[in-house]
Amino acid sequence: MAIRNILQDGDSTLLKTSRKVTDFDKRLHTLLDDMRETLIDANGLGLAAPQVGVLRRVVLIVDINIESDDMEEQIIELINPVILEQSGEDSSSEGCLSFPGIYGIVTRPATVKFSAQDRFGKDFEMVVENITARAVCHEVDHLNGVIFKTLVERYLTEEEIEEMFASREANNEEESVEEKTVEDKQVDENQTS
Ligand SMILES: [Zn+2]
Repeated sequence: MAIRNILQDGDSTLLKTSRKVTDFDKRLHTLLDDMRETLIDANGLGLAAPQVGVLRRVVLIVDINIESDDMEEQIIELINPVILEQSGEDSSSEGCLSFPGIYGIVTRPATVKFSAQDRFGKDFEMVVENITARAVCHEVDHLNGVIFKTLVERYLTEEEIEEMFASREANNEEESVEEKTVEDKQVDENQTS
């Protein structure tokens, strides 16, 4: 396993559409293993393959509803994900590992049903809500070359970002898609997906 470089704002790869995965082979598994390590290292809530320069429909999501102290066990691998149904609305702050330090209000569906394949090509479906639904939508957008900045309704001010981190620490809650925890981390070290 290896930590891969996360592409940053301005890299044109982030604006390209990713291709479907057809071979569930060792190469895919290496990509997934590297993405897992990269996501954990970055303390994000999601990561899409184009963010590490691979234009394939591969996404990782951290599902905080999976009860575990080990982030590794909360990661879900989505190959060729397709959003089947969505309902409700949730307007909350959102960030992206490719856009460090930037947060904005983005309206996303509150509930999302999607289909995907696992690393062996087996089909599955899931219904996710709130922050996890937000993460799925954000990552699927990456596969279509859509970056969250194009969906931002309003950017958070520096004061609001500070407040967001302070209140999250105080409540010990994990409400934002940006990152899982903020303990012992600087704001600019801890983005989302
Ligand atoms: Zn992102």
